[in-house]
Amino acid sequence: MSGPSNNTLEYSRTQAPPTVECAWCGRRFDDTDERLTGRVLCSRCGVATTTPWPSDEQLGAAYADWYRPTSGRFSGLGDKVLRRTRSTLAGRLHAVLPPGPVLDVGAGDGTLVEAFVRRGREAVGLEPYASGPHIRNAEVEEVDETWSAVIFWHSLEHLRRPGRALRHAAGLLAPGGTLVVAVPNATSLQARAFGDRWLALDLPRHLVHLSPSALLSTIESLGLHVERVSYLRGGQVVFGWVHGMVGKLPGHPDLYDAIRRSQARQAAQGPALRLYALGAAVAALPFALVATVVEVAARNGGTIYVQARRPAASS
Ligand SMILES: [Zn+2]
Repeated sequence: MSGPSNNTLEYSRTQAPPTVECAWCGRRFDDTDERLTGRVLCSRCGVATTTPWPSDEQLGAAYADWYRPTSGRFSGLGDKVLRRTRSTLAGRLHAVLPPGPVLDVGAGDGTLVEAFVRRGREAVGLEPYASGPHIRNAEVEEVDETWSAVIFWHSLEHLRRPGRALRHAAGLLAPGGTLVVAVPNATSLQARAFGDRWLALDLPRHLVHLSPSALLSTIESLGLHVERVSYLRGGQVVFGWVHGMVGKLPGHPDLYDAIRRSQARQAAQGPALRLYALGAAVAALPFALVATVVEVAARNGGTIYVQARRPAASS
């Protein structure tokens, strides 16, 4: 039966109108599209769209305080680790991106943007749910300047019209400019292994569930040259395995909930269950590392990272 971690099943039972079209390619769903728990798999593009389609109120509630409280999301060192990780990411991207301003779409609390600014690079983040010195409360479609790079770091899957956002973003790139996208890989080994309990389904916040082929073919269709694809760089690959393995245990403990601060947790979790989840995570880690090596070697890891460049001159 459904344990505390099966948010997918819980969301799929929401009383709301079913999703009628693919959020990625716009195809109107019919009998040929496969119905999964909480999502519909498009028979044309192979991308799954969350169903039912959440209302603004439902999304507002899903992003409410428990998800991103001002006191920080994770307990103990978690928030420090997150900041350090974002700083490392900014450093790596700073080294590979062409010089000039960077647009971070779905900037969250602005950690990545601030890390760019600290390195002396002009950077602006877009985030409808936040504010800050380098944050604009806008959608990417409302932006019209030219950028050396546009980044969607685990944000594309949160947008209501991700295909349109990506197309607009490609048009914002200066010649030679770079698009960076990191999203969960919905056809990865871990996605298949954990099914409805896979961490990165994250309904209803994730509205599309992309495959590498759908993402890459769309990026190429926008006239961009794919320069690098990684199934590890997008992060959360090892954690996806550990979380999934722990969730397979009796009682389906939710590791993600266990590491969050108590105010940020979705459901009340007693100390015993929390300790059980954390202990299981430690035991699962070596197996998760092996699974990660296998998954990444098979070029089918839990996340897809794509770096693509707009040609310097149109020929
Ligand atoms: Zn589609």
